[in-house]
Amino acid sequence: MRGLGSRLWDQNDREYIDFAGGIAVNALGHCHPALVKTLTEQGNKLWHVSNWMTNEPTLRLARKMVNATFADRAFFCNSGAEANEAAFKLARRFAKEKYGEGKDQIIAFLQGFHGRTFFTVSVGGQSHYSDGFGPRPGSIQHIPYNDIDALKSLISDKTCAVVMEPLQGEGGVLPADKAFAKAVRELCDQHNALLVMDEVQTGMGRTGSLFAYMQLGIEPDILTTAKALGGGFPIAAMLTKDEIAQVFQPGVHGTTFGGNPLACAVAETAFDLISDPAMLEGVKAREGWYRAELDKINAQFHCFKEVRGQGLLIGAVLTDAFAGKAKSFVDAGIEEGVLVLVAGSNVVRFAPALNLTEEEFKEGMARFTKAVEKVVNA
Ligand SMILES: *Cc1c(COP(=O)(O)O)cnc(C)c1O
Repeated sequence: MRGLGSRLWDQNDREYIDFAGGIAVNALGHCHPALVKTLTEQGNKLWHVSNWMTNEPTLRLARKMVNATFADRAFFCNSGAEANEAAFKLARRFAKEKYGEGKDQIIAFLQGFHGRTFFTVSVGGQSHYSDGFGPRPGSIQHIPYNDIDALKSLISDKTCAVVMEPLQGEGGVLPADKAFAKAVRELCDQHNALLVMDEVQTGMGRTGSLFAYMQLGIEPDILTTAKALGGGFPIAAMLTKDEIAQVFQPGVHGTTFGGNPLACAVAETAFDLISDPAMLEGVKAREGWYRAELDKINAQFHCFKEVRGQGLLIGAVLTDAFAGKAKSFVDAGIEEGVLVLVAGSNVVRFAPALNLTEEEFKEGMARFTKAVEKVVNA
């Protein structure tokens, strides 16, 4: 198997247009020359020194991420789940040190997804991921997304954190309402709770701004990001403010591989390319391409109830006639040579490279149209 740009070839050399992006990871497509160059250069220089030494790529990446966001400090690790695990531990420890025992409630949202470690599946709002492993970590409660009243009645001075995705990805490509996000911020402030934004999927240009919170008119206290951060190389980050970060003194939390120079060097190059305003503008333009083409497909086949999402994280919600059949669209896509994703069983999800070319898009959409026709006529 191999990849180049937004094309993949399987072991039989069959070609696919990639609208899945390795689940929102390959933000610059496959084997982007600048990433390959950095990977090989850094590969010839230094891979790993462990976390009791710093190194230049890590410090440079941290500086760039801090300068571009609300944050003062960065913690690097290797996956979205690890970044969230760190965030939840940090929120709990911060509350304990600043306010004393008993302020440990975490409020999260139904259908939310935060990773697969036991703490993160427990904060996630899909119990089928956390069932069957014995007693879950406690003091975690879930309410419906975009429901201000539900949050108002649950949040209290016992709450240490509210954890939200600015747009639920795995849960169905469902964006937060601006008014909801504003209310979450205000309620967190009223109750001295931290707002943890999980931007593992929405971060790094995916929604058309560097981070999705930037379009919501609020700032989080802790932000996690991963998927697109390394452009395909495993790396994740947790960002936060000085006052919160100082709770993580040496020994309180750590990671062996996190912040290694190889991952950080690749991520720095990805960061430089993705944070370019022209790249972010391009995401908005490509969102328009998708919406126009999906509307056309829908006018012909009447299979979508709604097309929603933001930037290049787009969900086509299936009509009742196709309820539960998102996977059939993925399978038909594979047969026609185009890769798309599901987000639950009723939503077909698109998370292509941010630098997808018009030619790749048109070819992929022609194939997807055939896939839809196949499913509709099945
Ligand atoms: C994918 C994802 C995660 C988990 O990331 P991993 O790298 O698989 O651990 C966490 N949160 C969100 C919002 C995600 O989309």
